[in-house]
Amino acid sequence: MRQMDILDLTIVQLHEGFKKKQFTSVEVTKEYLGQIKKTDSKIHAFLTVTENLALEQAKKADEIIASGNDFPLLCGIPCSIKDAILVQGEKATAGSKMLENYVAPYDATVIKRLKEQGAVILGKTNLDEFAMGVSTENSAFKVTKNPHDLTKVSGGSSGGSAASVASKQAVFSLASDTGGSIRLPASFCGVVGLNPTYGAVSRHGLIAMASSLDQIGPIAKTIEDAKIVFDVISGKDSMDSTSADYKFETKEVSLKDLKIGVPKEYFAEGLDPQVEKIIKEAIKKAEDAGAKIVPISLSMTNYAIACYYIIVPSEVSANLARFDGIKYGKSQQDAPNLLDVYLKSRGVGFGVEPKRRILIGTYALSSGYYDAYYKKAQEIKELIKQDFAQSFEKVDVIFSPVSPIPAFNIGEKSSDPLAMYLMDIYTCPLKLAGLPALSIPAGRIGKLPVGLQIIGNYFEENTILSVASQLEKMLL
Ligand code: GLN
Repeated sequence: MRQMDILDLTIVQLHEGFKKKQFTSVEVTKEYLGQIKKTDSKIHAFLTVTENLALEQAKKADEIIASGNDFPLLCGIPCSIKDAILVQGEKATAGSKMLENYVAPYDATVIKRLKEQGAVILGKTNLDEFAMGVSTENSAFKVTKNPHDLTKVSGGSSGGSAASVASKQAVFSLASDTGGSIRLPASFCGVVGLNPTYGAVSRHGLIAMASSLDQIGPIAKTIEDAKIVFDVISGKDSMDSTSADYKFETKEVSLKDLKIGVPKEYFAEGLDPQVEKIIKEAIKKAEDAGAKIVPISLSMTNYAIACYYIIVPSEVSANLARFDGIKYGKSQQDAPNLLDVYLKSRGVGFGVEPKRRILIGTYALSSGYYDAYYKKAQEIKELIKQDFAQSFEKVDVIFSPVSPIPAFNIGEKSSDPLAMYLMDIYTCPLKLAGLPALSIPAGRIGKLPVGLQIIGNYFEENTILSVASQLEKMLL
């Protein structure tokens, strides 16, 4: 099989190929490593390429495949991992100078599960520093370019993960989503991204940003691939007390008679008319296939960004307190006393965005301001939850854009944090409610892909994936 063909295959197609002895995992892995070498000087998706680990895992996978027994779907399949997820013995920088030389002492639970299946890890992908951002421009190391147009951002914070899948440098990737970090880059890069229900996937071994919102999920070429990976990584883990006792089950949910909610607040001012057109056409296709379109209102939408950008910095200020120059990461020892070691290490180690959030969060949590900011934000969060709960009494799923605009120019918004924050308008509200949602490619504006967001009720990953897989065929 020619090189191009191998790089185009999905998980199931590769699995079949392994079974029929058309190629080995080592061969496939070498194709992917070759593609990374060929393209990554332009794309900048990877922070570390774990070539030795990949070839060793591929060899082991080939032994399992050759043993003749049934082998798992992910056995021998090459993937990339966001650099905020720990892979034992490999660097985990979280895109920060603070952790530039940090080597993970253990595997995240999701990595353990991938390894149990025999998956092959090609490397660690770029992200905004500590997953804060929408473009990877906040990475301390490099900016990941959009594979469809190198002058545009790849999206963030998991831009490296999405770009690696879109440019055929990995079959799939694991990433994390706090306010949109899986879905936004998936939308910008024209791939599939799933943000699971809060609690569906263990975060043990994920470098925490905002613990009440962080979730790990797959970025993949197709819905079927995303489903396969989600099935492997989801479920209870004794190392993460927020993980739910949940067994993902796949069952076809037909578009016929499905009730699709369309929130009017998500099609208001600020939405690019070309994005709106693509999303409305997708909604029309679902309607033509028998779905019932139900106009709904998510009346708290306007407060979501403000609420999110109080809660997230508050949790960031607490989570990032551990980086003190003593316990973890960068340490500036050239200081007269312990306090100065803390101050200097944090001063040098953190970039502008984490510093901004630590300041905002510390302020929002401080006595005298706590009630006005953090407590208020928690109350609004409850109202946002109720908004969604009321809608899900009337509808099965909700359709919306992922982002108000397609991928923007590199540098265009770098000096305007508020403009960056506004990019989360459609992706962050459902996170405050803890709901699952995915992004699926729905069309293009010129070269640039545009994603449709499908939001589901709690632990209804099966519903949104099933709906998306029927649409996938119609949207292409
Ligand atoms: N853009 C959002 C933020 O900066 C979301 C990031 C994420 O999901 N990790 O907080």
